[in-house]
Amino acid sequence: MTTLKYPLRVNVGFLIHQTIGTSRDVQFEFPQLQLNDLGLSQFKGVARFSRTPQGILAQGDFEGQTTVECVRCLTEFLQPLHTTFSELFAFHNKALTDSGLILPEDGNIDLGPLAREYLLLEVPIRPLCREDCLGLCVECGADLNQGLCEHQAAKSARA
Ligand SMILES: [Zn+2]
Ligand SMILES: [Zn+2]
Repeated sequence: MTTLKYPLRVNVGFLIHQTIGTSRDVQFEFPQLQLNDLGLSQFKGVARFSRTPQGILAQGDFEGQTTVECVRCLTEFLQPLHTTFSELFAFHNKALTDSGLILPEDGNIDLGPLAREYLLLEVPIRPLCREDCLGLCVECGADLNQGLCEHQAAKSARA
């Protein structure tokens, strides 16, 4: 588990005085990463920071896995997540962007909150451990992926 307080923070101050179009790629890789309430494993990605006339454009491409519970069989499994996003951190308060992101005075951009927000959108509302998960027996709660219980066996014998 990484203990960095801002694992996805990058100082882009050096880009501010570069010519428009200058960019820099920053790679990230963490075996475990906690973004607020979102726990991730095998996190990796790249962020490209580009100098634009209005500010610094951050383009992220991140992936990782998070633990979710199958809605049918209630087994926990690792759900792969992948997201890409593009957000402008504007130079001035008056240069309002859709997202309202402003480049901080000290040039530190923290992609943590954005990465969390975008990756959460990729978490399925009804996760399934596999497409054809058989779920649990409504009578005894047996996990039918492990084999049929007596109730289900009786049912399929009748069918
Ligand atoms: Zn399942
Ligand atoms: Zn049963």
